Amino acid sequence: MTAIPLAPPVPHSPTTAPNALLATYRRAPMELVRGEGCELFDADGHSYLDFASGIAVNALGYDDPGIRAAMVAAMDTGLIHVSNLYRTAPGAQLARALVERSFAASVFFCNSGAEANEGAFKFARRWARVLGGPAKHEIIALRGGFHGRLFASLAATDRPAYRAPFRPLAGGVSIGERSLAELDTLLDAETVAAVIVEPVQGESGVRVLEADFLRGLREMTSARGIALIFDEVQCGLGRTGHLFAYERPGVVPDLLTLAKPLAGGLPMGAVLLAEHIASSIQPGDHGTTFGGGPFVSSVALHVLERLSDPDLLARVRDDGSWFGGELNRMARSGARVRAVRGLGFMWGIDVVASASEVVSRALTAGLLVCTAGEHTVRLLPPLVATRDDLQRGLSMLADALE
Ligand code: PLP
Repeated sequence: MTAIPLAPPVPHSPTTAPNALLATYRRAPMELVRGEGCELFDADGHSYLDFASGIAVNALGYDDPGIRAAMVAAMDTGLIHVSNLYRTAPGAQLARALVERSFAASVFFCNSGAEANEGAFKFARRWARVLGGPAKHEIIALRGGFHGRLFASLAATDRPAYRAPFRPLAGGVSIGERSLAELDTLLDAETVAAVIVEPVQGESGVRVLEADFLRGLREMTSARGIALIFDEVQCGLGRTGHLFAYERPGVVPDLLTLAKPLAGGLPMGAVLLAEHIASSIQPGDHGTTFGGGPFVSSVALHVLERLSDPDLLARVRDDGSWFGGELNRMARSGARVRAVRGLGFMWGIDVVASASEVVSRALTAGLLVCTAGEHTVRLLPPLVATRDDLQRGLSMLADALE
């Protein structure tokens, strides 16, 4: 066998080195150095009103004194991490707080949204295997869904460009249409373990799934012994004006995944499990080194308390519907916005231009927004944004659309 020669390393000095960060993102040109409230500041002293929130993460904005105090208090214990081989109070308290506020009986902590979904798939399969044997293992995701970039979560993500270069993806995961008639034929009780749904599809253009659709899906899955997983990684924890997005349609899932805002910007994911799923899980079925450590859990406990505040949630609902009304007014007053979708502090506008062009023009005007597809601009203000902040953002957006 002939050895394949390796290219010799290319010497370069740190100053002439190309960007050492792997080019998986097209980053905006400015360098951010500071944040305060809903505002970010770059190295040249420019300020930006942030309606991207680190992609739905920074619900409490930047430099929040409560988060800072929670971090300092957590540091005072000297414990950042001990592993899941030992007990610590903050993770257990956080799990209890999530259980008290939801349908769940127990919680598994991990480190990201994709990881939470991969965990949910495993838990659903474990339960389904007890119920229907090894044949009952299929996971069905929906057209337009986004669930992450790992192999099973990518298989559940309806983005051909993200999937194609990495085939074969995880097996036993397929995508169905957002139609109860189609799902009726797809959801075979003998072979399907779970269906995963974002109650508000974020990445594919901010599509709020109809309450009737979610109710129909719940009835169908319950009748067939199929687990219903809600991916609330983006739409959960207050963004819709409810602590959990499932509260709006009043449809309770069997499993629910969280991540983005949970620990105030520290990496953390969670899977919430109903009692019947949780009781099928044994020690050793799943694990992760970092999940639910004392430092991250202490911060998340503070964030969860704040995001559970009924006044904050009511304000997100009220100001959110005012904001949506203003976006609709903008759409009616000019031809540059074709459609407006969303609720709470989660909105998508379909633009005539390319969405990334609008994002660049908004950035130049001092407003950070992100895309959700080729022609959709996504607006995700921090949940602490005031009516005044929202109004300022709208004016900058209008300029960027000109
Ligand atoms: N699920 C949803 C609904 C998301 O919006 C995202 C990320 O945007 C993910 C899962 C993946 O989360 P992460 O990037 O933390 O892996």
